[in-house]
Amino acid sequence: MGEKRNSFEIAQQQLGVAAQVMGLDPTVHELLRWPMREYHVTLPVRMDDGSTQIFHGFRVQHNDALGPSKGGIRFHPDETIDTIRALASWMTWKCAVLGLPLGGGKGGVICNPKKLSAGELERLSRAYVRAVARFIGEDVDVPAPDVYTTPQIMGWMMDEYATMSGRSVPGMITGKPLPLGGSAGRHDSTARGGIYCIREAARHLGLELNGRSMAIQGCGNAGQYAAILGGELLGLKTVAISDSQGCVYNADGLDVAALGQHKRATGSVVGFAGGEDVPAADLLTLDVDVLMPAAIENQITADNAGQVKARIVAELANGPTTPEADEILYNRGVYVIPDFLCNAGGVTVSYFEQVQNAYRFYWSEEEVYRLLDERMTASFAAVAAAADKYQVPNRVAAYTVAVGRVAEACKLRGWV
Ligand code: NAD
Repeated sequence: MGEKRNSFEIAQQQLGVAAQVMGLDPTVHELLRWPMREYHVTLPVRMDDGSTQIFHGFRVQHNDALGPSKGGIRFHPDETIDTIRALASWMTWKCAVLGLPLGGGKGGVICNPKKLSAGELERLSRAYVRAVARFIGEDVDVPAPDVYTTPQIMGWMMDEYATMSGRSVPGMITGKPLPLGGSAGRHDSTARGGIYCIREAARHLGLELNGRSMAIQGCGNAGQYAAILGGELLGLKTVAISDSQGCVYNADGLDVAALGQHKRATGSVVGFAGGEDVPAADLLTLDVDVLMPAAIENQITADNAGQVKARIVAELANGPTTPEADEILYNRGVYVIPDFLCNAGGVTVSYFEQVQNAYRFYWSEEEVYRLLDERMTASFAAVAAAADKYQVPNRVAAYTVAVGRVAEACKLRGWV
């Protein structure tokens, strides 16, 4: 494997390419290369054995020219400030490409939630909110779930914030459980948005997807729903799916509902009776029609991009493809749906959740899906049009759309 790339450097590099293509004003470019604010917090948490453990966390607000910052909170042992900076900047572009009145933010805590009891996890979640409370809020910066954080964690965080504020503030965080002001349709919205993008990509390429194959890296919130919805909405059969412990494969298609039960019961896809275990690294180069990275950053690299056989790569994960790999995929004619378009369904329904919280009036699941489809389809078309206009890969095209909108807002505010 090649050297692990720094995600923030990659994000800056990607912006640099788009800036050149669109002839971006150098001052605007310099402004957009950096987060506008970032906070580092230290969190003492009482553990079950009576000891106190010190955790470190971050909250980064990349750019809020278009509106309050928006972005998830990750609980991960390998979290770094640079990963959070990169993810915050991708949130800026994601909100902009979807036309949402929101900026980009991200947060994280260095921890291994799998090694924490429920009580420890709750105390850590509440400690994080106490530490960042003065920097977030419904008109300032609105967190959401991300890797290894859940609706339950959002519920604890909202409760801590409400307790501190002495009032009900459901719109300060999204991805909440339904009884606490969550939105219908939020649970599978990231995957659903990605599946709508795959549908649009197939239309664009003139491909029929019914009965075709898909491989998914990552069997979490995003990947699991993508397997289900890929089958339900497009007739795609998921032939392989992996997690951090291994990969399971069945050329005839996996029974994704049974696989989900197996994963919940055992904690992994490995050992699933309806398929065979294969090395996880093989998943990315399987002979499939659609490849969906839905786990972590830097997975498709210069080392394996030449062996990717899929016609469509749908990036449900953030930052799964390095710039070197991007170029290889583009030159080989692989159609990449870039992360901040492909996985924008989650933030779009998060935005719907904020709107519903503000009105204290809740929509049906059908209404949420209809509005999500409208937004995803329009954004896909805007990116495809930019790719045609500039004759560039979809990622660069998506950047030109997003950066153009953020740059205009910065200018109209008089910042540059
Ligand atoms: P999750 O924690 O629910 O699941 C992550 C999955 O990836 C787990 O199954 C884990 O075992 C697996 N994984 C970790 N390392 C792996 C590896 N090296 N190989 C294979 N699998 C591995 O997280 P999620 O919410 O599903 O998020 C996954 C990706 O999607 C992340 O990049 C996240 O930023 C992105 N994303 C998620 C959402 C959302 O709403 N959940 C929204 C936008 C983007």
